[in-house]
Amino acid sequence: MTRPYYLTTAIDYANGDPHLGHALEKVGADVIARWHRLCGTPVRFLMGMDEHGQKVFQAAAAAGSEPGPWTDRISERFEQVWHQLHCSHDDWMRTTQPRHARAVTALLERIRERSPDHLFEGEYEGLYCVGCEEFKQEGQLVDGRCGEHASTPLVPTRERNTFFRLSAWRDTILEAIEQGEFQVEPAIRRNEILSVLRSGLQDISISRSRLPWGIPFPGRDDETVYVWFDALINYLSGTGYPDAGWDALWPADLHVVGKGITRFHCIIWPAMLRAAELPLPRMVWAHGYVQWGGAKVSKSEGTSVSLDEAIARHGADPLRWFLMREVGFEADGDFSFERFDARYASDLADGLGNLASRTTAMLVKYRAGVVPAATAPTALDDAAAALTQEYVTAMSALDLRGGASALERLVSEADGYVSASAPWALAKAGDDDALDAVLAALGRTLLRLALMAAPFMPEKARVLWGALGQDGDPDGQWVRAERPEMAGVAVVKPENLFPKG
Ligand SMILES: [Zn+2]
Repeated sequence: MTRPYYLTTAIDYANGDPHLGHALEKVGADVIARWHRLCGTPVRFLMGMDEHGQKVFQAAAAAGSEPGPWTDRISERFEQVWHQLHCSHDDWMRTTQPRHARAVTALLERIRERSPDHLFEGEYEGLYCVGCEEFKQEGQLVDGRCGEHASTPLVPTRERNTFFRLSAWRDTILEAIEQGEFQVEPAIRRNEILSVLRSGLQDISISRSRLPWGIPFPGRDDETVYVWFDALINYLSGTGYPDAGWDALWPADLHVVGKGITRFHCIIWPAMLRAAELPLPRMVWAHGYVQWGGAKVSKSEGTSVSLDEAIARHGADPLRWFLMREVGFEADGDFSFERFDARYASDLADGLGNLASRTTAMLVKYRAGVVPAATAPTALDDAAAALTQEYVTAMSALDLRGGASALERLVSEADGYVSASAPWALAKAGDDDALDAVLAALGRTLLRLALMAAPFMPEKARVLWGALGQDGDPDGQWVRAERPEMAGVAVVKPENLFPKG
């Protein structure tokens, strides 16, 4: 059996409601998962919740709740929203689950066994950001505050607890990144991490002595595991570690995270794995932030956009499309309802939806719904073949906006082809051969578009797929976009894919 493509998203703190910033990451990862399935690769897709730490403990207390029932409620809410957005994860990891606690304990014991002098007792004094759950170093501060949480005061903290000798792993990680064994993408994030590594690393505290809400630190009665050390291990818990067979899923192929947490994923996590003598993940992809009027969408900064409102605007698939096509999965991008409405109208209602509707209507009207057997390639087929290749190149490089753009341009090519070839005039003139050629080319192009749309808009793509006389779902069928054959297939006009409000 082919080894599954194992990808993960970051796990979110259970301290509030899911927002658009979370949604960008989950949708992007889901598009990647669906793209691999479309190509016929088995996929394992892990998502979940980060339920320990001071921030969650405080949020529960502020709501007058015990942390257990509080995290149950939040976890349910997040997962329900991801289902609403058509996320196709195979597993939902909660760091309060016993299977995760077992993996954390086992990994810490393995580090202690393989790298005994890498866990040691020490004292640390510094400024702690509860928002990041991280001690901040001088160089990370902006005007004496955390760059990510300007309105959250830093807490001077002094602790005696267990440390991890992070500093010892600098050269190993630098080398793994430089030699491409451990890929950090996109390049702007890789360069940031390389510069942090070159300026040297400090050892980190990995336990908390006064926080009961966490996983007990093995061998230390009064300490719990530092929330980040705990959280990162969820990617390993998702494989079933330490039970037999876990290495069928490890190393992970891809961790999708936000650009604000690359130090944890590209420095601390690989150091932990090396200290345990385990293989590193193949790639970390760090996306940018969703901005709202130029500011990061964030609950703590009060710039949150209601996800329910965004989904209700035009539906889940159009929101997925907008996030990928307009906001993007690499740099920061702006969200606004004006731009969302404009894209919905141009790309979807007047674009893909209108093309699908009028071309199938012509097939029904002129050829009783059966795609003619004209197989000679037309100018549209040539353009479509080139854009299909462009789509593959983009998707394989995780350039999701590029993939969406290729789809959008194919819709424009097809629209232009309809106008230029005027099938209604050919029908009126009784030019059957020319009309067959045009309708057959449009049938093949619609098949390509249904496949290209499938990772981005799974529900709408499935409706189009069915209207084109195809059974089931498009998983494993990508090869048909490269050599589309529709001769003799009966099609119907689909339901209105993207109704205008
Ligand atoms: Zn912070």
